[in-house]
Amino acid sequence: RKRCIRISTGSKQLDAALNGGFQTMSLNEVYGEFRCGKTQLAHTMAVIAQLPKEMGGAEGKVAYIDTEGTFRPERIMEIAERFGVDPDQACENIAYARAQNTEMQAELLDGLAASFATNEYRLLIIDSVMSLYRTDYVGRGELSERQQVLGQFLRRATQMAEEFNLVVLMAHTSPNDSTNQVMSDPGASALFAGVDGRKPAGGHILAHASTTRLLLRKGRGEERVAKIVDSPDCPEREATYIITTGGIND
Ligand code: ATP
Ligand code: MG
Repeated sequence: RKRCIRISTGSKQLDAALNGGFQTMSLNEVYGEFRCGKTQLAHTMAVIAQLPKEMGGAEGKVAYIDTEGTFRPERIMEIAERFGVDPDQACENIAYARAQNTEMQAELLDGLAASFATNEYRLLIIDSVMSLYRTDYVGRGELSERQQVLGQFLRRATQMAEEFNLVVLMAHTSPNDSTNQVMSDPGASALFAGVDGRKPAGGHILAHASTTRLLLRKGRGEERVAKIVDSPDCPEREATYIITTGGIND
């Protein structure tokens, strides 16, 4: 019988706000403006997921679907050193794949089922989940098709999270201001309604699919702020964190 496990984020404050971290068997969305640490969180959790449970890990391997080419093995190695694990081993435990379009993104997900069936994997990262849908389906005319294809992808991801006892961590960049180009993308408003942390409008397909949503923003100085939005088992609350050489920290 599968038992739900929580994986730490690297920040004690953020873990506390999440009742111990992100849960397996769930889809989790991390969103917010550029450079607020979504990719850094993904790298940090890719290492922590491998650690013993006493250290916030899940003793598992990690699958990493990268749509923007922002994965950096050197960062994994630096984060591994923080936690006292072998940097090469940490990299070897991450199955990395670069997706160039939405079709490939969906194929990669399907292709991972065989690996996940070994029961060695506990974390699936998709960074970013939305960017290729935005470039493959441009304009208002393609919005309904985009929603449909994205919906299929998210349903498959949800199913895999449950079947294979995985934390699915999906990042996507969303603007905090109206000058961002995403908002001038016709049709994007339906997908990105609620980016400021309010409840999303009906039709926000990604928000509906996600179990826990984390909205990140820049705080004072080096500080970053994470706000938990729409979680089934956590109240809406905020936690601060910083980005260090060793990854996300307090
Ligand atoms: P985007 O929406 O563009 O994908 P993001 O939310 O994924 O953005 P990240 O790439 O996770 O953003 O975060 C970038 C930030 O991480 C930068 O502010 C950078 O200074 C910081 N950062 C990256 N590497 C290090 C490091 N080794 N030490 C400290 N800070 C770092
Ligand atoms: Mg990023």
